[in-house]
Amino acid sequence: QAKEEGGNTYRFYTEEMTAAAFEHVYLDNALRSALEREQFRLVYQPQVDMASGRLLGVEALLRWDHPEEGLIPPGRFIHIAEQSGLIRDIGLWVLRTACSQGRHWLDQGFAFGTLAVNVATRQIHDASFVPAIERTLADTGLPPDCLDLEISEDFVMRHVNVGAERLQRLRAQGVGIAIDDFGTGYSSLGHLKRLPINKLKIDQSFVRDIPDDHDDMAICDAVIAIGRSLGLTVIAEGVETEAQVDCLRGKGCSIAQGYLFGRPVPAEEIVRAFAATPAGID
Ligand code: C2E
Ligand code: MG
Ligand code: MG
Ligand code: MG
Repeated sequence: QAKEEGGNTYRFYTEEMTAAAFEHVYLDNALRSALEREQFRLVYQPQVDMASGRLLGVEALLRWDHPEEGLIPPGRFIHIAEQSGLIRDIGLWVLRTACSQGRHWLDQGFAFGTLAVNVATRQIHDASFVPAIERTLADTGLPPDCLDLEISEDFVMRHVNVGAERLQRLRAQGVGIAIDDFGTGYSSLGHLKRLPINKLKIDQSFVRDIPDDHDDMAICDAVIAIGRSLGLTVIAEGVETEAQVDCLRGKGCSIAQGYLFGRPVPAEEIVRAFAATPAGID
C-alpha cells in the first residue's frame, strides 16, 4: 500500500509540475502577444513632500490591460517575463512610454519633479542597457535629471561591479538611481557606498505597522539614519495613515508614496490631482 501511495504522490506531483510549466509557457506567450497588441499600460503614483503636500515625483507602474480579465497587476506576471527574458522588451516599452509621457507633461507645463521607472536586474545585465536609456532620453527629449531608475537590492548585492560602472555612467548624466524595497534584501553598507545611488525607498512592509510595531519602528529608524549618513533621499513606501506620516516625519523622513497621497492612476488623472498644487523639486 505504501508503494501505491508513493506512486500516487509521484504522479500527483508530476501533474502539478506539468500544470505549472504549462501555465508558465502559456503566460509567456500571452505576454509576448500582449506587447505586440499594445495591451500594456502605465499608471502613475505620486511621491510627495509630507509637510507641504508638494509633488516631488511620480512612479510609473506597469499594468496589463487584458481583454477578458481587465487590469492585471505586475505581481502576477513580471516574474514570468523576468525568467523568459521578455522583460527586456517590456522594459524598453516601459522606459519609452514613461519618458514620452514625462516630456509631454513638461510641454504641458506640468512639473512632476522626477519620473521613476522600475528596472529589473535582468535589464541592467544587458550590455545594451545604458545605450538604450541614453537613446530613449535623446529620442523623447526628457532631460536626464527628470528620470529616476528604481533598482532592487538583490541587484546591488549580486552585480555590484558591472552595475556600479553602468549606473555611474547614467548618474553622471543626471539620471537618479533609487534602491527599491530597501531593507528586504541583504545589501551591505559597503555596497551601498560603491554604487552611485541617490535615493532609498523604505519597503512598505516596514511602514505598514508603524507606529505600533516596535521592530518595524527600529528598522525605519535605521534606514532613515543610513540614508541620512550617506546623503541619500529617503522615501517611505506604502504610506496609508496620518499616524504613519507623523511617525516618519518625526524620524526625519519627509517624502512618501502611498494610498494616503494618491493611488497609481492614468497620466491625465495625476495631472488633474496635482496640477493646481505647487510642484517640482528645485
Ligand atoms: P514597487 O516598485 O515597490 O511599487 C510599489 C507598489 O506598491 C505598487 O504595486 C503600488 O501600487 C503599491 N503601493 C503603493 N502605495 C501603496 C499603499 O499605500 N499601500 C499598498 N498596500 N500598496 C501600495 P504594483 O503597481 O502592483 O507593483 C508591484 C511591483 O511590480 C513594483 O513594486 C515593482 O517591483 C514591479 N513593477 C511595477 N512596474 C514595473 C515595471 O515597469 N518594470 C518592472 N521591472 N517591475 C515593475
Ligand atoms: Mg518601484
Ligand atoms: Mg518598492
Ligand atoms: Mg515592492
